[in-house]
Amino acid sequence: MKVILATSNKGKIEEIKNLLHYKDVIPYKEVLEDLEIEETGSSFKENAVIKAQTIYEKIKDSFPEAVVISDDSGITVPALGNIPGIYSARFAGPGASDKENLQKLVNKLKKVGLEKTPAYYSAAVAIASKEGIFTVHGWMYGDVIDKPRGDKGFGYDPMFIPKGYDKTLGELDEDIKKKISHRSKALNLAKKILKILKRDTGEDK
Ligand code: IMP
Repeated sequence: MKVILATSNKGKIEEIKNLLHYKDVIPYKEVLEDLEIEETGSSFKENAVIKAQTIYEKIKDSFPEAVVISDDSGITVPALGNIPGIYSARFAGPGASDKENLQKLVNKLKKVGLEKTPAYYSAAVAIASKEGIFTVHGWMYGDVIDKPRGDKGFGYDPMFIPKGYDKTLGELDEDIKKKISHRSKALNLAKKILKILKRDTGEDK
């Protein structure tokens, strides 16, 4: 089974490959040219659907049995008015780096004097296939802090402490993130859909 990932985010690709356990999981850039997909949706779900559908339309003739999986995700801080949410990837402007985005969120916390406040990650995963489009969701709750720690993971991980832990995702072992993350929760549901679509061939690595 070919699973094509509708993302070029290296952190996401690594995590999704690790979580899916199928042999043939490839980023879309291995079969298509680089694409600028505009995320015009107003929710994680809408943006995940836009990404999966755009790539599926382009690969379906060459790979009719393939499924395209997209992930639209981000972090939300209620005390700051639910920012950055769906704008997590472009919080510090179009094309901003992970570091710039994290620094902007740190500055926002500092500005209002919040050293630590509740936050959550969300992930919407869309599966586009010849049978149609399916979406699932996952969440991870915790706190964000104004002094990032550690260099594991990606994005906002160095400033996020998951509920029940005292270290950031930048410090915690990657196996822990794998068990508790928004992305792994959504992908575990996605795997159930792949099974229903008879695309789970049990091809464990
Ligand atoms: P997307 O590619 O439009 O879905 O944007 C996702 C953005 O949300 C990433 O660029 C990160 O900034 C953030 N994000 C999503 N998931 C994670 C995660 O697991 N760790 C850290 N940052 C994340």
